[in-house]
Amino acid sequence: MSKVKKQFAVIGLGRFGGSVCKELFKMGHEVLAVDKDEDKVNEYAKFATHAVQLDSTDEKSLISMGIRNFEHVVVAIGDNIQASILTTLVLKEIGVKTVWVKAQNAYHQKVLDKIGADLVVHPEFDMGKRIAHNMSSEKIIDFIDLADDYSIVELLATSKVHNMTLIELDVRANYGVTILAFKSGKEMNIAPDPDDKIREGDILIVMGHTNDLDRFEDEGL
Ligand code: ADP
Repeated sequence: MSKVKKQFAVIGLGRFGGSVCKELFKMGHEVLAVDKDEDKVNEYAKFATHAVQLDSTDEKSLISMGIRNFEHVVVAIGDNIQASILTTLVLKEIGVKTVWVKAQNAYHQKVLDKIGADLVVHPEFDMGKRIAHNMSSEKIIDFIDLADDYSIVELLATSKVHNMTLIELDVRANYGVTILAFKSGKEMNIAPDPDDKIREGDILIVMGHTNDLDRFEDEGL
């Protein structure tokens, strides 16, 4: 957990925004929770530093509430795509540095990318992909999509690589992937040495092109 206390604003307190808000607050950050629905605002008053009722498509209200002071804003308006787009546009126009937005579908995602959202998340889609990867192989423990065809995966070291050093494995030359770190029992080795040995049951954190990662998982482990 980060020790630096940061200021965040979460606009839209549905299932997604609500969960982001509660988690940030639990981590000790300063969180402004915003929703146009008064009941939601009351519900989240105890899970945020401040909870404010306003319609985020109204630029004047956003400005007078001091949204400019927040470096990082999450727009979690789900169903109302128009409100989500307009809010994002206003936030970027008034100079909020980082705006992350939840997209409802691929078209929504495309528009948000175009108008300058700094990160677009599509939770159902992203999670579905992640679960599918986790289900497809017993060696895959977790999966994070980076950009287009690149990802980071957690792979289980099998008996095939037991007692091999990273040099012996030479995954970069053989598969074009990089072992960023590995977990051996409870210990996390975040700066692996070429001579470090992998043991069966270790968890390898590997980054690379999806095709190369697939090949390493199939042939290398
Ligand atoms: P989820 O799918 O994550 O549950 P919802 O679409 O159900 O998302 O919830 C989105 C939240 O955003 C609702 O609480 C809704 O009141 C709020 N919301 C929608 N439009 C606006 C707006 N213009 N300004 C502020 N909050 C909004």
